[in-house]
Amino acid sequence: MTPYQTEQLQTLRMVRRYLAQISEAERETLKEGLSDYLAFRNAVDAFQEHYFRDICNRKCYQNKLSACCSRDGIIIFFAEVIINALMADSAALERLQDVLTHLHEGFKCVFLGHEGCLWRIKPIVCEMFLCDAAENAVLKENPVARKRWDALVRQKKEYTWPDRPVLFDTLEQICIEAGYTSPLMFCHNSPGLLRVKRQGIS
Ligand code: SF4
Ligand code: SF4
Repeated sequence: MTPYQTEQLQTLRMVRRYLAQISEAERETLKEGLSDYLAFRNAVDAFQEHYFRDICNRKCYQNKLSACCSRDGIIIFFAEVIINALMADSAALERLQDVLTHLHEGFKCVFLGHEGCLWRIKPIVCEMFLCDAAENAVLKENPVARKRWDALVRQKKEYTWPDRPVLFDTLEQICIEAGYTSPLMFCHNSPGLLRVKRQGIS
């Protein structure tokens, strides 16, 4: 196991322990708190499907290149592990744990399975990634799409950028108060994000 796999595995196990320890009603409350974010994610999905399906099919999916998933060690926030664990079934979470416990070789992301990404709600950094070729081919020629995409990129910050109370920070805080800690709690341990928080609050 790589250090990345170990960190991811420990966090996933911790999140599953936390979710198992709280009541069904508390889990439902957490899920209800995701509704805006999931609606945003659906909007991003719809946008990608509408504007990028053809080019991504042509360039990557038909030849199984999955160039988007050729990176190893992508940044994943702690909150994303909770969100995914709340939305995925236990078989899907077992599958994630399984790939994290096996030797990972090659240049593809450890979470890339035969049918695509193993996450139910994949990390936001993956969801919002556009390669230069795709971005230039679609957004350069289409100001309406450009404007819509820029709005979605701005909207992402409403959930992730802690210059105000945001979902990603809140989910970390809930687990910290329950006695858990993880290196993936970037809203609480990244010097850059802590600075953003301080400046946002002042
Ligand atoms: S965004 Fe670029 S790298 Fe990713 S699937 Fe589409 S064409 Fe491939
Ligand atoms: S987490 Fe999923 S979408 Fe992101 S790079 Fe890995 S396989 Fe691809």
